[in-house]
Amino acid sequence: MDGIGAHEVIIDTPLHSLDLSDLPTAALAEVLRMIGDRVRALEAEGWSAYVQVFKNKGEASGASIVHPHTQIVATPLIPGQVRDEIRAAERAFKRDHRCLFCRLIEEETSADERLVRRSDRFAAIAPFASRFPYEVHILPLLHAPNFSSLNGGEGIDLADMLRAILGRMKAAFSDPPYNLVLHQGARPDFSATRGILLPGVFHWHLEIFPVLTRAAGFEWGTGLFINPVPPEAAARFLRGEQELVQAEI
Ligand SMILES: [Zn+2]
Ligand SMILES: [Zn+2]
Repeated sequence: MDGIGAHEVIIDTPLHSLDLSDLPTAALAEVLRMIGDRVRALEAEGWSAYVQVFKNKGEASGASIVHPHTQIVATPLIPGQVRDEIRAAERAFKRDHRCLFCRLIEEETSADERLVRRSDRFAAIAPFASRFPYEVHILPLLHAPNFSSLNGGEGIDLADMLRAILGRMKAAFSDPPYNLVLHQGARPDFSATRGILLPGVFHWHLEIFPVLTRAAGFEWGTGLFINPVPPEAAARFLRGEQELVQAEI
């Protein structure tokens, strides 16, 4: 592997004390458009295999600067954890002849139990096997492997949804630290060039974790996570239907 990569920082807003959820929808959609542009540019680099987007907010999330910002890192390899998730999606695709995430959206939006919010273009769910209290995943309803396919209308819809969910978390947990990460497929032509992965089977999504508990010895020793808040209760709370379930770890 070549020692090569890229790391970019996007300044979300000129205002020092704001969070994403404080931005007007149009301004947040503009941040998403900028992220999409940069992801596309990094995916055009011949050396890049995977482009990762993430946001650390607050000290406990690992943030080293206070000013609201989003980071993009492109790597010449597909990181192990991402590869595991892509492989799981491939196995499911081979078995069911359809996308695992499309199926998950269909099941979660019709069952309603873990559905946090739904718009014309996106669904936000508290995942069945949530690792952290109040973990939320946001997925586009239409199958799309890579974030760079996000168009203007989807950007506005996603901005609205992010504002609602992050705003609810901010109000409920007194402006908690959080991590927001993008999971997406490998660089679009990577599969074809390396012949490793089934192209197009992944379905991009955002994962949001308010930092309310700490991963400790058991988690680091096993990769298994203890989560005291059932996702159904988290979804009810984030929909505004239930009182807070205290995390006791
Ligand atoms: Zn899909
Ligand atoms: Zn994921």
